[in-house]
Amino acid sequence: MKLEELTEKLRKFTEKIKDDEDYYLMQGMIYEGNWLFKLAIEVKKRETLEKRAIKSGIKAFLRWKAPEAVISAVTWQVRGYYMEEMFKPFYGIKKGSYVKKLLNHIANVLDKTGEIKFSDGSKYRLLREQKIRISAKISKDHLKIEVSPFRVIYHPFIAKLVGTDKIICPFCGKETYVYSGYCEHCNKQILTVCLNCRRITPIGEKCIHCGKPLKWVK
Ligand SMILES: [Zn+2]
Ligand SMILES: [Zn+2]
Repeated sequence: MKLEELTEKLRKFTEKIKDDEDYYLMQGMIYEGNWLFKLAIEVKKRETLEKRAIKSGIKAFLRWKAPEAVISAVTWQVRGYYMEEMFKPFYGIKKGSYVKKLLNHIANVLDKTGEIKFSDGSKYRLLREQKIRISAKISKDHLKIEVSPFRVIYHPFIAKLVGTDKIICPFCGKETYVYSGYCEHCNKQILTVCLNCRRITPIGEKCIHCGKPLKWVK
């Protein structure tokens, strides 16, 4: 699937979202290695309580042919529904209006700017110059898409993990911020994971944390 095709499908799916209905939402960046990330979004419509109760009531009746079974099945659904309500943040239940805004934003990111920002302050850019990989499952009430490769442009935690916000680039010798994992001057990857202590360190002869000679995979 091409990017244009994906954004078109994404927009069509978004149009059908109803503002006041509930949706399950999962979104994030998955690390793929080599400082590359995959954008993953999943949206699933949450059925109303009435619909769920009726469905499971009918199922129970057909199976057990007993009113008690129907009552217990419906009660179970009601309880489950309110448990979800209580733990809303963990399930990522969002109103349709919110999901709509988010998906429209994602569609714009994919076919225009290519840059996406998350609430923790991290920023990623889609690498259009590389081969774009897309996986998409889109049906009436369910959307699951994955797009890669993205590269981190800025991440507030990187400086903390490295222990400094600026280093001298081992390739071009100029001073650069570490926030993206790449040199801002020569664009080469400047950070790696030390195979000895497993911490993020600038690429060089030795790990800055444990002092062991550094081996890295490009
Ligand atoms: Zn450099
Ligand atoms: Zn180390």
